[in-house]
Amino acid sequence: MSAERVDVEQKVLSANDQIASEVRGRLAGHGVFSVNILSSPGSGKTTLLERTVDLLKPSLRLAVVAGDVQTRNDAERLERHGIPVQAIETGGGCHLNARQVSESLESLDLGEMDLLFIENVGNLVCPSSFDLGESRKVVLLSVTEGEDKPLKYPAAFRRAGVLVVTKVDLVPHVEFSTQTAIENALSINPDLVVLSTSSYTGEGLDSWAEWLTGQVTECKQGS
Ligand code: MG
Ligand code: ZN
Repeated sequence: MSAERVDVEQKVLSANDQIASEVRGRLAGHGVFSVNILSSPGSGKTTLLERTVDLLKPSLRLAVVAGDVQTRNDAERLERHGIPVQAIETGGGCHLNARQVSESLESLDLGEMDLLFIENVGNLVCPSSFDLGESRKVVLLSVTEGEDKPLKYPAAFRRAGVLVVTKVDLVPHVEFSTQTAIENALSINPDLVVLSTSSYTGEGLDSWAEWLTGQVTECKQGS
C-alpha cells in the first residue's frame, strides 16, 4: 500500500473515531448497551437477531440498526418482531461507519432503549476497523464456513468480545470441527466469550440472552 493511501485511510478512521466516541457518549448517557454484530454474509446475523428479540423483548427495551449494501429486507424482517428498527442502505459501502449509526440514532428514542443491536454489513474485513461507538463487537461464525476463518480474518476476532458459533444443528452434515474453530479463535483472542448456538433448534440461545442481559444490567449500574 502506498504511503499516501495509508495517510488517507488514517484520516478517514480518525474522523470516524471521533463520531464513534460521540455515539458512545450518547448511548452511555442513556444507559444503553450496544453490540456491533460482524460476520461474513450468510452466517445468520438476522435470524439470530430475530430469535434474540423474541427472547428478550418481554424483559428489555430493544432496538436494531440494520446495515446492508442494498435492500431493507433484513430491517423489515426484524420490524415484524415489533421493535424499532432503522435500516442503513450503504449503496455499495462494504461496512457501516459511525456517522451512519449516529444519523440512525436521531430516529430512535434512546430514553426508551436498554439494548441496541447494530447488524453490520456481512463482511469480515473492514467492518472490524470502523468503531461505531458500540459497547462490544460480537463476531458470528457459522459451521458452514471454514474452521480457519479466525486465522484468515484475525482482526474481527481480535476486536470482538464474543464469538457466537451459529447453525450448530448442521454439524452432522458438514465437515466442521466446532472445537478446532473455537481453538483457532481463542489462539487469536484468548479473552473471547464463546457461545455455540442454533437459531433453528434454539440451542445455546438462552446463554446468549443471559450474556446480553448481564451486560445490560452492568451497563445500567455504570451509568
Ligand atoms: Mg442480515
Ligand atoms: Zn468496507
